[in-house]
Amino acid sequence: MDYFPMNNGTRIPMVGVGVYTFTPAEAQAAVETALRDGVRLIDTANAYLNEKGVGRAIKASGVPREEIFLVTKLWPSVYESETATDDALRRLGVDYVDLLFLHQPTDNWREGYRNVEKAAREGKVRAIGVSNFDIFPGMTEELVDFAEIKPQAVQVEAHPYYPQTELKKTLSKYGIATMAWYPLGHGDKKLLEEPVFAVLAEKYGKTSAQIALRWHVQSGNVVIPGSRNPDHIRQNFDLFDFALTEGEMAKIAALDKNERYYNGTPEQIASFKAWAPDFDAQE
Ligand code: NAD
Repeated sequence: MDYFPMNNGTRIPMVGVGVYTFTPAEAQAAVETALRDGVRLIDTANAYLNEKGVGRAIKASGVPREEIFLVTKLWPSVYESETATDDALRRLGVDYVDLLFLHQPTDNWREGYRNVEKAAREGKVRAIGVSNFDIFPGMTEELVDFAEIKPQAVQVEAHPYYPQTELKKTLSKYGIATMAWYPLGHGDKKLLEEPVFAVLAEKYGKTSAQIALRWHVQSGNVVIPGSRNPDHIRQNFDLFDFALTEGEMAKIAALDKNERYYNGTPEQIASFKAWAPDFDAQE
């Protein structure tokens, strides 16, 4: 496994699993499979309503807590709550998380960021960051100025069709890790069926998904592909016995269309604050 060294001295595994859209039982099964196969990075969120399932999988796996890099995200409706971090820890059944994100750039992000900074000072989280702030130009820079504790990571949509080249230049100035969501295009067949992946898959005896994920890792992106399929989970982690050449990296980079899958309007993003489910009500 390769690791990205974060700007506070902690390091994050480059490859893990994500459980967006999974029911609690599906999240539990996927995380148990992943941990059994050696995956140590797990990405969930309040909003996925499956933190309890993830916590059950961690317990059942028997893998020592300190070997796992656990990530969750606070939802805007709880940014201003004093108990937001403790509530997430309780649902996950742990006494710290390795990385805590603000999930969305709603107008209360400053209060939220002070909250995660406080959690970091209290030892409840080992690293902090924000997700989706790239949607608004200049917001990442504004956050870096505002921060008393500089973010260690950002989580943004990133894949060969939208590689985040500009954002990554800003992040590298501050040693901030890029975590790519939708690393495989959220199952978009068009992306994984790009001929360049088939050619390289044949050359290296890998699958197209593995070539795409290897491109991410060599580009410096931490990836958290999602799958309910145990074979895919295993495959997505098996990326470290080959390397793409510079020319091959460039061919994949040429797929850049500057096209996102998610194009939320400012109004949609603002409305996230009003979605306030009872996060404890999940199974
Ligand atoms: P993804 O790009 O990881 O694609 C998942 C799709 O690819 C699924 O349809 C899966 O069946 C398929 N797949 C996975 N492995 C495969 C393989 N080896 N071969 C063929 N197909 C394969 O998209 P995702 O799962 O939606 O996103 C990944 C993670 O990113 C999420 O689980 C979540 O943790 C995170 N995420 C974060 C945000 C955010 O706002 N911060 C938004 C979306 C997703």
